[in-house]
Amino acid sequence: MFKYSLQQIAQLTNSKVVCGDASINISNVCLDSRNYNLDSNTIFIAIVGKQHNGHNYIREMHCKGCRLFWIQEGQNVPELPNANVLQSKNVLEAYQNLISDFRNHFKNPIVGITGSNGKTVVKEWLYSILSMHTNAVRSPRSYNSQIGVPLSLQLLDNKYDIAIIEAGISEYGEMAKLEKMISPEIGVFTNIGDAHQENFSTIKDKVAEKIKLFKNSKQLIYCADYNEIHQQANQLVNIELFAWSTKNQGNVNVEISKSEKSTQIRIACKGEEIKINIPYVDSASIENAITVCIAAHLLNVPTEIISRINTVPPVEMRLELKQAKNNSTIINDSYNSDVQSLKIALEVLSKQSQQEKKTLILSDIQQNSADKKSMYIQVQEMIENSCVDRFVGVGGEVSTHLKNIAGAEFYENTQDLLTDKNFKYSNEVILLKGARSFLFEKIASSFEFQTHKTVLEINMQAMVNNLNYYKSKLKPETKITVMVKAFSYGSGSYEIAHLLEHHKVDYLAVAFIDEGIELRNAGVRLPIIVMNPERGIMEDLFAYDLEPEIHNFDVLQEFAYHCKNNKEKVFSAHIKFDTGMKRYGFSLQETNCVIAELQKIKNMKVASVFSHLVGADSTELDDFTQEQLDIFKSICNEFDSSFDYKIIKHILNSAGIERFSSYQFDMVRLGIGLYGISAVDQSKMQNISTLKTFVSSLRNVSKDKTVGYSRRGKLQRDSKIAVLPIGYADGLNRGLSRGTGSVVINGQKVPIVGNICMDATMVDVTNIDVAIGDEVIIFGEQLPISEMAELLNTIPYEIITSVSRRVKRVYVYE
Ligand SMILES: *Cc1c(COP(=O)(O)O)cnc(C)c1O
Repeated sequence: MFKYSLQQIAQLTNSKVVCGDASINISNVCLDSRNYNLDSNTIFIAIVGKQHNGHNYIREMHCKGCRLFWIQEGQNVPELPNANVLQSKNVLEAYQNLISDFRNHFKNPIVGITGSNGKTVVKEWLYSILSMHTNAVRSPRSYNSQIGVPLSLQLLDNKYDIAIIEAGISEYGEMAKLEKMISPEIGVFTNIGDAHQENFSTIKDKVAEKIKLFKNSKQLIYCADYNEIHQQANQLVNIELFAWSTKNQGNVNVEISKSEKSTQIRIACKGEEIKINIPYVDSASIENAITVCIAAHLLNVPTEIISRINTVPPVEMRLELKQAKNNSTIINDSYNSDVQSLKIALEVLSKQSQQEKKTLILSDIQQNSADKKSMYIQVQEMIENSCVDRFVGVGGEVSTHLKNIAGAEFYENTQDLLTDKNFKYSNEVILLKGARSFLFEKIASSFEFQTHKTVLEINMQAMVNNLNYYKSKLKPETKITVMVKAFSYGSGSYEIAHLLEHHKVDYLAVAFIDEGIELRNAGVRLPIIVMNPERGIMEDLFAYDLEPEIHNFDVLQEFAYHCKNNKEKVFSAHIKFDTGMKRYGFSLQETNCVIAELQKIKNMKVASVFSHLVGADSTELDDFTQEQLDIFKSICNEFDSSFDYKIIKHILNSAGIERFSSYQFDMVRLGIGLYGISAVDQSKMQNISTLKTFVSSLRNVSKDKTVGYSRRGKLQRDSKIAVLPIGYADGLNRGLSRGTGSVVINGQKVPIVGNICMDATMVDVTNIDVAIGDEVIIFGEQLPISEMAELLNTIPYEIITSVSRRVKRVYVYE
């Protein structure tokens, strides 16, 4: 078990206990303030990352009651009364060193997995197989980074016979650090591909970096058909290689024969034969299954258990958040059922701030455990120490073992819960955590809105990555306003705002007052700028603590009037200048007059002065942009010499941040970039939104017939036509009709036939394997928004903001 005193940690990691009691024991760590649940043995580790500084969360943690902190020399730390504080030169390194020590107390084998793809699937499948046979532990989800690996290793305990740890890197130098912590006896190198290539000059270099994980391993499994891996593996010393190949290139020969829906695999592994049959035909699944079988075989799992790989469920690593009835939200995590995954799911639950009340619906836990009783004692503690306000148990075991949880409600099975008329919920975030056999997806579909199955999926992690990319272009002290106007460019309201709040952006900006009020009502506390303060709303604006943009003398007059009538307070406003857009804003010539008017108002603060660029994304307009920047600079000078306090200046939008970062002044305004569109290099962006629907009906149409309104869907041949329940009323632009646009079904691009209707669209799926219910991608990673915009002769902004509000937004956490 992980347990160290502060004193021990200080010794092991060359750190100092700078205040408090050095004898206090630590048994848990917290790296994300949202996950913290008051626990006197949890230390908050303030890690300084490239884009993220844990020290910014120390005050919040102290308010929450945390009294144990691990901080870094030279960082700003607030006063921490009654705290126990450990200080290191580099906190992350010190934490990793501590984990290396901890790992050395684990006496059983560790399997270390790396590679470009398939790491998580191989880990999960191998874990499933091993769990049928022994007591295993694995990295949670895809915890494979410099922080994820130590968190995974903290789970080690000699009660486990084996541990499976995943390692992922994206830069030179990272693997040596992971190797030091994991030091796996058995290595698995899944494959090599293009992922994270941007930081490596060649594939060879990337293999060389990854293979460092196996520096001290005794056995290594890999596919010899990847020549680069094969060559470098053969240069390792003191290691037994299990090089599998379908082309006779290694020492483990594999034969594959595919049928329509399954694949037979025969593995000749050093004198023994393993035969399996898997319900997949794609090459990635086949490769993963082979790797898993060889690893299981090496770990002495009997062949008849290995052959049960065909029963192992597909790996679903994502947690989906969906809006449910009665103003509630559900998180459905029914993919695996064990104590560790419950813990992670509870962490996700604690990060949700859209509804205050948090509910857990938990089924019996189907984890191999010799001692059910102590497992459930652990679960009870976990629940009681978590954010859960309401607990509902489903199944015989939880009813017995968890009956002492205060206020708990119990059901014998899922059906009983669903048919209980007295089971009510409203204004809750509900976590569904059920073993597969409990079929919690039935609860999910009963709680969800079922009106319309077209969804816009928003990837929250991708959004954070995009934010960090733009931050990397800025000085650390430059503030960021994020534009969340137009329902965050179509992606959502408070869900996005809460995420941005956690990531410490400085301001949000909306176009109209109602957007601001919606955010305030959802508990968003960041300062919010309202860019279009229409007549007569000053009162409301300030009642909701919103800040107006002032862009002409009318608004200025209203603002002045409001200030005059409320002398006891001071009001902030943002002054906009027009430097070329000719839309809103005072002109350069008006500067002195504006300043004079502002100075007359005694109880106001000029929070910022700003302007907006017309063509920051376009090289042809660079001269004009430069003129705008110069004009803005002279306006700024006037303000600086007229006010005796610091006023924030800002002009750059997303494209500006990428192309004119030397004009970042004190703040920038990030818009489209957050949502995944770059003016400079699209490859730096991650796709955040995917518009999805499904095939709702299929029919054969002979070539003499036509499809849809006005007989515009002419056919070249007898065709198979799929109907999709999405139309222009959902935001699928009618300009994509008649073959202009396409959609992706089962990985294949198919054209739209005929005219797009209000609520339906027809596509040609002749010669394609499709079934009713199959997922259809309208735009997303495989069908970029920018391509759709080009087809429609418009800009990506219009595409993403046009998805109608009736399309449900689903927020996905990786
Ligand atoms: C919308 C908006 C932005 C953001 O522009 P992007 O091109 O999306 O980055 C910045 N400033 C103002 C005033 C805006 O209206």
